[in-house]
Amino acid sequence: MKAARYYAKNDIRIEQVDAPTLRPGTVAIDVAWCGICGTDLHEYLDGPIFIPAPGHPHPISGEEAPITMGHEFSGTITAVGEGVTDLEVGQNVVVEPYIVGPDVSTGPGESYQLSENMNFIGLGGHGGGLSEKVVVERRWVHPIGDIPLDVAALIEPLSVGHHAFVRSGAKAGDTALIGGAGPIGLLLAAVLKAEGLTVFISELSQARKEKATSTGVADHVLDPSEVDVVAKVRELTGGNGVDVGFECSSVNVVLDTLLDAVRPGGVVVNVSIWGHPATVDMQKLVLKEIDLRGTIAYANDHPATIKLVQDGKVDLAPFITGKIALDDLVSKGFDTLINHNDTQVKILVHP
Ligand SMILES: [Zn+2]
Repeated sequence: MKAARYYAKNDIRIEQVDAPTLRPGTVAIDVAWCGICGTDLHEYLDGPIFIPAPGHPHPISGEEAPITMGHEFSGTITAVGEGVTDLEVGQNVVVEPYIVGPDVSTGPGESYQLSENMNFIGLGGHGGGLSEKVVVERRWVHPIGDIPLDVAALIEPLSVGHHAFVRSGAKAGDTALIGGAGPIGLLLAAVLKAEGLTVFISELSQARKEKATSTGVADHVLDPSEVDVVAKVRELTGGNGVDVGFECSSVNVVLDTLLDAVRPGGVVVNVSIWGHPATVDMQKLVLKEIDLRGTIAYANDHPATIKLVQDGKVDLAPFITGKIALDDLVSKGFDTLINHNDTQVKILVHP
């Protein structure tokens, strides 16, 4: 079968590889669509980061580069392994793309995203969505009912937004400021709107501001080059500031803005991945008793996230900005996202 394999920085190849084989407790899936993620771009430009470098096999998967990529994917079940009794051939599904140790429990309430050596299918090994077929453990497979397979490829990044929402402790009626309207900022905004929050987004890029407005995921889009975001947020929240802030840009000045924009006793959730240390004005944290929280990926968020889409509370279609073939992954996918990043939200690949 055809697969996109990461060899090294700036070296991704579309190659023929052996199709994965079904084992007891696993599910075989024909991949329909796979999104390209910012993490994939980081691997391409600056990696390997999550991808195990040659000579350093991942402790759980045992694999090292070259690695098949793709962790945001949907598909159709083609076979179920021995012992899998609650899924059937022909069902459309998405994969929660984790690699965790075999002894790590993934039941309700378990924080398996924090387990030792956690990695992701499509980064740490175990195949990936940028290939024609994948075989994964039953526990990572989530049926999607009649959700179209293209929009379903966005359930993985939407689950990242859902987990950030859960981490924030926010509830319906609360106000939120999201710093940065990239793919994760926009999808997080979609979750917050669906959950009944009032959403402010701070963003500089014209294209992203337009997307935040046209999709209806933001109640107020604020451009820090045009308005004093903190003053505007205070004005629109009766002088208090927002209940929660979400850092989705990995830009220090945005983090500073969020610390100023949340109300006393408010919460700031850091959603972005930082490639460098940030500075935090701790006195702001102290004097307002702000909770600054981390969030990584998701844990038991997929069922609730899928339900938001099934119930029509989140419309993912407007976030798909391109569809390409696997052979064009680098020329039309990565290159577009690297050179015209702000015009794109999610490019889907059809393997
Ligand atoms: Zn991703």
